[in-house]
Amino acid sequence: MTLRRALLAVCLAPLSLAMAFATYIAWLGLVGGRASICYGTVVNGHLEGGRRLPYAGDNYRAYSLLGFLLGRTFVHETVRETMLDAYAELNKSHPDLRFVYAESAWPWGGRFAPHKSHANGTAVDFHVPVRTLDGQVSELPTWAFNQFGYAVEFDNTGRAGAHRIDFEAMGRHLLALDRAARAHGISIRRVIFDVGLQPKLAASPAGAQAMKRLAFNQQQAWVRHDEHYHVDFAVPCR
Ligand SMILES: [Zn+2]
Repeated sequence: MTLRRALLAVCLAPLSLAMAFATYIAWLGLVGGRASICYGTVVNGHLEGGRRLPYAGDNYRAYSLLGFLLGRTFVHETVRETMLDAYAELNKSHPDLRFVYAESAWPWGGRFAPHKSHANGTAVDFHVPVRTLDGQVSELPTWAFNQFGYAVEFDNTGRAGAHRIDFEAMGRHLLALDRAARAHGISIRRVIFDVGLQPKLAASPAGAQAMKRLAFNQQQAWVRHDEHYHVDFAVPCR
């Protein structure tokens, strides 16, 4: 083997391993496999038969292609149906709005660093819907350098750089999730969102309705949830 060939093999081996892993993850997420079963709690639990949303749809996308390929967006199948139905409803009622879902769980659940929960496929992070300062619908920038959106810092007025949080769209999304969850026989157990920004959400009509209907954290969580809101779904687990 020439040196060139050896070098090529050394370079290609990790690449083919990565592709094999991504294929394995994709196979795990195929709809029609074994049923989803969640075990334990979001802090101490695991997941069997996890599923994931497509990388992107008409009005939504995942926070990161890398995170998607690595398998960091898996959920219980009922949570998946709920998320999809909520996006479909919003696409009919407000086709201009855009949404970004973030991390949820490994296909098999379990510890999901750096998160403290997300262990059994019943918890999902959603990046906040945003608009530009002149009011155009936009998406939270998600690059490796800002930790795929997680490192974006919003001030107490809900502004970060050239974007501001669309609290009305966030309220509409939460209400759509609540409706879809009930239609699938589950519910939303709790929403975690920055306590300093909660009054801004409550000041929008849909946000006010969502806050009346759903339980929100009263105290600040261990990390500031300003660029994303965390939703715990109440799914019967073993
Ligand atoms: Zn979370």
